[in-house]
Amino acid sequence: MKKGLLYLAFIGVFFACNHTDEINESNLTPLQKLEAGNKRFSAGKPVHPDETLERLRELKKGQHPFAIVVSCSDSRVPAELVFDQGLGDIFSIRTAGNIMGDFELGSIEYAIEHLNCKLIVVLGHKDCGAIKAFINSDGHYEHFDHIKKIIEYIENEKEEKYLASHHELNLDKAINANIKHGVTALKTSEPILKEFYDAKKVQIIGALYDIETGKVTFNK
Ligand SMILES: [Zn+2]
Repeated sequence: MKKGLLYLAFIGVFFACNHTDEINESNLTPLQKLEAGNKRFSAGKPVHPDETLERLRELKKGQHPFAIVVSCSDSRVPAELVFDQGLGDIFSIRTAGNIMGDFELGSIEYAIEHLNCKLIVVLGHKDCGAIKAFINSDGHYEHFDHIKKIIEYIENEKEEKYLASHHELNLDKAINANIKHGVTALKTSEPILKEFYDAKKVQIIGALYDIETGKVTFNK
């Protein structure tokens, strides 16, 4: 009898565990989906959803990504891995320092207008090389390459200028200022994004990725 109960308890635990391994996220908001995915990733328990050939074939009919993530090109910050998502889930924009010019904005407008995305995340990360380069250049980047354009862009962000003029410029603060700049730039970008944001049709939020712990902190 005792053995029988033990067996039943074991089966119960087995099925309970199996059940929690499945992810049913249909009732979550886009932001909650990203939060849940990052929780799995940073706990070392990613489930790598939406990576099957079946998913691949299903997406042939069209893509409906639930979020746009603007992150750094840094090889340690791939949005799909950081948020434990798969094919067709994230519309991904990546540049060094997650900065945005016309091409990036046009890509985001496309995802908002035509793919119906409801969430944009500007994802900066700790120890960002692009921001470091800006700080180290101290206003005097001497090479005439295209990296100069990136540094100048960051240098000209009003949030960075504010820090510099108040003698508060350090790497962590500059990274946060850059994220803040990205969020404000998107919220005020005309004609498409401002209109969608003002009409509350899209949520725009900043977030910081810790390259050591794997955790993302959203600026809610
Ligand atoms: Zn970076």
